[in-house]
Amino acid sequence: MAAAPLRFEKATVRGFDPRAVRREFPIFTTHPELVFLDSGASAQKPRAVIDGIAEFYRTDYANVHRGVYSLSARATDRFEEAREKARAFLNAADEREIVFLRGATEAINLVAHSWGPACLKAGDEIMISDVEHHSNIVPWQMLCERLGARLVVAPTDATGQFDLAAFEALLSPRTRLVAVTHISNVTGTLLPIARIIELAHATGAKVLVDGCQALPRMPVDVQALGCDFYVFSGHKAYGPTGTGILYGRYDALQSMPPWQTGGGMILSVEYAKTEFQDPPHRFEAGTPDIAGAVGLGLALDFVESLGREAIAEHEQALTGYAVDQLSRIPDVQIAPGGQHQLSIVSFNIDGVHPHDVGTVLDQHGVAVRVGHHCAQPLMEKLGIAGTVRASLGVYNDEEDIDRLAKAVEACREMFVR
Ligand SMILES: *Cc1c(COP(=O)(O)O)cnc(C)c1O
Repeated sequence: MAAAPLRFEKATVRGFDPRAVRREFPIFTTHPELVFLDSGASAQKPRAVIDGIAEFYRTDYANVHRGVYSLSARATDRFEEAREKARAFLNAADEREIVFLRGATEAINLVAHSWGPACLKAGDEIMISDVEHHSNIVPWQMLCERLGARLVVAPTDATGQFDLAAFEALLSPRTRLVAVTHISNVTGTLLPIARIIELAHATGAKVLVDGCQALPRMPVDVQALGCDFYVFSGHKAYGPTGTGILYGRYDALQSMPPWQTGGGMILSVEYAKTEFQDPPHRFEAGTPDIAGAVGLGLALDFVESLGREAIAEHEQALTGYAVDQLSRIPDVQIAPGGQHQLSIVSFNIDGVHPHDVGTVLDQHGVAVRVGHHCAQPLMEKLGIAGTVRASLGVYNDEEDIDRLAKAVEACREMFVR
């Protein structure tokens, strides 16, 4: 049975002022009436990031790791400083465990292409969950096809909760890798990631955690978790597009061959043989997104300045409030998010196509995501074509949820009656 939903009459967390936070985001000055509930797809950018990137180009910009001149040394310092910020943000043991990439998708593909062939053979198994984003399905599926390995899917139960007992039963000595999301981008379910890692490690499997939805909204400590890989996209964490991080335990990264090759990742090149750099540079072929990395560092500073505990508390209260408000509306069906649901609420209005709901909500100034959310196998399991998804950011407050509920009600009146 589903746990009774918590009731939230007020979603205000002491000391956290979303209205003040909102003033740090220029998009809301341009669009004062906007109710932005699509941070799960990409978060808006604070002034500190937008202005900081421009400032970096104006004052410290040059290529990195190359020049002997002082400007290049300064740019390199700024770039490496961002790496240190990402290390501290994840509480990784060493900044050499932080690889700058274009996003979570690229990070997962790197592990699939580099770690995969080096460590897997025919008959081995990779386990994912049934609430994964396509980015954490397709790279493993293709890897399995190439190597003759098997993709195993661990289920969530009818209440939306990850089924630990089923997971444990599916684990076997053949399981080489468990790749699971920290928070579902469709249902907001928080997976019991610490326990998953513990159980997987006990059978000798490595664990990759897709942290896209968790990292911007709750404390993450990769050493406490003990995961082997943790990936996230910068643009969902209030940073620039085209940035992302692969965290990998140093011994794991050290054992992996390069994926892409070229400049910046070599020690020496002869026509007969090339020697590669150690991690992380081994995995950063070519000129990186230098300004993007600097911007990501500023975004992480911004999130830290608000406090991740405070953000989690704020968004959790607001999630409860949203579930409560939406479930009061007749004909609204909420996709079950399990006992621990954070910042994401997916729903449908009976008999109304999600795209129609999205269009009506937009006419009310409410921006949500509609469709399959890059999780078609999950939609198939839920027996629906898609959902309307509201996802929260640090700038959202109760008033935004009230306007969402009002617009959903208006939409229902339009179509259902
Ligand atoms: C957005 C998202 C991804 C993919 O991130 P990109 O930025 O598109 O690479 C992967 N997993 C989850 C859970 C996501 O929400």
